Amino acid sequence: MLPGAMSYRVLARKYRPRTFAEVIGQEPIVRALSRAIERDRVGQAYLLVGPRGVGKTSTARILAKSLNCAQGPTVTPCLECDACREIEAGADVDVVEIDGASHNGVDDVRSIRERVHYQPLRDRRKIYIIDEVQRLSGPAFDALLKTLEEPPGHAVFLFATTDPHKIPETITSRCQVFEFRRLREEDVEAKLARVCAAEGVEVPAEVLAAISRGCRGGLRDAESMLDQLLAVADAVPTLEDLEAIAGLARPERWLDLFEAVERDDPATVLAILDDFLRRGGSERELVDQAVDAARDLLHVALLGEDALGVVPAEERRRRSLELARALGRDRLEGLLGLLFGLEARIRQAPLAARALLEWTFLRACRLGELLGTAALLAGLEGGPASPTCRRASPPPTDSGRSPAPAGRAAPAPAPAAASRLDELLARAEAGRPTLGRILRRNLLEGEVAGDHVRLLLKPLAEEDRAVVEDPPSLAYLAGLEGSPGAWRIDYRREEPAPPDPVGERLRDLFGAREELP
Ligand SMILES: [Zn+2]
Repeated sequence: MLPGAMSYRVLARKYRPRTFAEVIGQEPIVRALSRAIERDRVGQAYLLVGPRGVGKTSTARILAKSLNCAQGPTVTPCLECDACREIEAGADVDVVEIDGASHNGVDDVRSIRERVHYQPLRDRRKIYIIDEVQRLSGPAFDALLKTLEEPPGHAVFLFATTDPHKIPETITSRCQVFEFRRLREEDVEAKLARVCAAEGVEVPAEVLAAISRGCRGGLRDAESMLDQLLAVADAVPTLEDLEAIAGLARPERWLDLFEAVERDDPATVLAILDDFLRRGGSERELVDQAVDAARDLLHVALLGEDALGVVPAEERRRRSLELARALGRDRLEGLLGLLFGLEARIRQAPLAARALLEWTFLRACRLGELLGTAALLAGLEGGPASPTCRRASPPPTDSGRSPAPAGRAAPAPAPAAASRLDELLARAEAGRPTLGRILRRNLLEGEVAGDHVRLLLKPLAEEDRAVVEDPPSLAYLAGLEGSPGAWRIDYRREEPAPPDPVGERLRDLFGAREELP
């Protein structure tokens, strides 16, 4: 266990927002809830959706205080009355907090059903806050639904979830849904700076910036890192300290790695990957951070020095600029495509993560060569070699020149594949009826392969195609239960396209660019 693991709760708790004014980065939600309170139009069920650590539960508690404060209902609860203090401590008899992850059974929900009809003991409203509501079991959802169908006037339900797709439509349709955003880096950084000032500790801006980036929009994770850092650092914490506790590699390491990629230096690339994993980072963390670093370089390549953000040390500044210039936009975009593909492949074949990682970075080393060949051939043929070109005919078999990814398996036997596809389409239809229907109606051929699903559809009307190709739709399909990975969708054309080995290789290389929303 890390030394700071106990105390991180302290910071996150100590500086948890207690009023709407203190909630950061969720302005539209705060505005809507405040207005509802002021106009006495608070609904009976809310679903708060968003990644972890962005303020869902805090907001639920603030809403509970607003409704039940002795001075209320008010958008500025007093924080001093019994209701306010007890809600904050999680000890108010009329505000019941339930963790769906640990109380997911029908009995828990049944007891809510039985008690919800009693008048509140002291407060104005009886409020149920159910965190991670998607973890409730099927029968528990059924029981909950019965309560939601006819809630007594004094009851308010506040559900929080990181994964709304797992909640039955019958429940969500009875809730007002608020989508919490990941926090912006600058918002996290500003909050951390305030915490440091309040704690009377000095943490350099570049360390706060690194935490703000590493937390991926989750404030609680950021506060946890800061707390661990303060627990282990000797005096003023450094990027090295942060690397040691949070596995957040120093920016120099990414420069080392991408410089080695740029000059096609496989030995150094492998050594750097090995070093990262040896220091305790996981393959997925490596990919996450590499994506951020590559994205930074792309911004520098496109926008110049201004894109560097917090002014880095001179040496790092110079190297970033040179590297961005040397790699250039095409290679950096290609590199990001490879990393997104890698992310999906690791999800599919976690045991092969390390091999996939090495294979992808070694491939990245030869990206310039491949792009050069493609451009040359495109020039010869007089047409653009688009990496995302679509073809109607099935891809030619790989000539064997490039190694297949370890996560890729041979297609399943035909009948099994057909029924798997059928199951997936049924799931898509249940979860996203419009999208599912379009796929089903226009399906000509389909294949569930080891790491992707390939569909061949009839040519679609513009608006249907927009639905199918909307990145959230593709992300939804890729994430369906039982889906092996990304969905590649092609359309039948009047004339089959001529074989296009270079395009195919590039698509294999870049195709994954479409995998992320
Ligand atoms: Zn109060």
